[in-house]
Amino acid sequence: MSISRIAETIHASPTLALNQKAAMLREKGEPVIHLGGGEPKSKSPVDAILAATALLNSGEVRYTPAGGIPALTKAVIRYTEQFYKRAVAPKNVMASGGAKQAIMCALQTVLNPQDEVIYPAPYWVSYPDMARLCGAVGVAVVPKDGTFQPSLKDIESRVGPRTKAMIINSPNNPSGAMYTEEFIADIVRFCEKRDLYLIMDDIYHRLVFDGKKWPNPLEYATKPIDESKLIVVNGVSKQYAMTGFRIGWAVGARDLIEVMTNIQGHQTSGPSVVLQMAAAGAINGVQSCVESLRVTLENNRNVMLGLLNTIEGVNVAKPDGTFYCFANFEKYEKSSEKLAQFLIDKVQVLTVPGAEFGADGYLRLSYCGTIKEIQEGIQRIKWVLDPDSPDELYIGNRKVVRDWK
Ligand code: PMP
Repeated sequence: MSISRIAETIHASPTLALNQKAAMLREKGEPVIHLGGGEPKSKSPVDAILAATALLNSGEVRYTPAGGIPALTKAVIRYTEQFYKRAVAPKNVMASGGAKQAIMCALQTVLNPQDEVIYPAPYWVSYPDMARLCGAVGVAVVPKDGTFQPSLKDIESRVGPRTKAMIINSPNNPSGAMYTEEFIADIVRFCEKRDLYLIMDDIYHRLVFDGKKWPNPLEYATKPIDESKLIVVNGVSKQYAMTGFRIGWAVGARDLIEVMTNIQGHQTSGPSVVLQMAAAGAINGVQSCVESLRVTLENNRNVMLGLLNTIEGVNVAKPDGTFYCFANFEKYEKSSEKLAQFLIDKVQVLTVPGAEFGADGYLRLSYCGTIKEIQEGIQRIKWVLDPDSPDELYIGNRKVVRDWK
């Protein structure tokens, strides 16, 4: 079968593949613990459900403008005022099929083949493939100081004549690190000065812990929105536990949003009106669900971090937000893929290899499940790795006997 040269370079999304694997094992009745997921367990907000069902009950389910329905656009405008302290117009907003599609449309709008898009490592798994889909090149920048905090110096050294854009994701998937206010200010000013597009993937910006304040990138943007190359991307998936609704959005200069909307119009004609209504319902509705999710996640993080720190030789930085601990297991196995496979084979714990995020030797462990899953999952990992632990472990009704060193 002959496929295009671009298609040949595209990999399956490893996180989606893991979700499938976990679902398959569960269906077989296997006692799998899924620490690989990226979605909260809580229910969608009632305001989202009511808004969607009201539309469904009307039976009037039609095409929408390709960039989104006015109700959602208005909700995003209000959201932008509240969290970004910026007044924007409807033409600055495009609703999309998840933050994922918003980022993809933005990249398709600004990248030419061979252009480079820079992002700090570790990075969200989809960025390199999204760049490839545009025929462009993703450039991962590893912070020189060995932390998960990039510096402008790190980034600056990789900017060349082909650099067209940057993607900054803070709080970050997979590291859980929230980038410093200084870095956010630096990168916004730098991109303005060098005339580079800056895509802020802010999907976790309300899920921040320890009373820390999330730095608002628009606070440092000096240009009016319509002259700016800064594109803010957000969505309902994470903050409202609405991953299955597939609604995200982009806010940026109207000329840019217009082209992004044209592209999206040809791809999907825009997201489903039912789901857009649900998203507008969530954004305009009672917000206590977001705080309650945030508090639950902070508590889950504390539990996971505490348990990980009891495993000899595992290094893990305290996540500032998100759903993830990104822990270094190099002492046990340098290849994160081998280690993740070993954990699923021996003790049925699903993790995501750090190699997928450009950081081999690490595993991404998600704490958006229940405390019981976190405890059981980390205990199984500890058992399997620690040669001093007993030779046998019960997983459900099955006895696992250590046959490895
Ligand atoms: N960016 C990051 C960093 C993410 O982790 C995710 C979801 N895993 C997305 C974007 C995409 O979110 P959505 O469900 O809105 O497409």
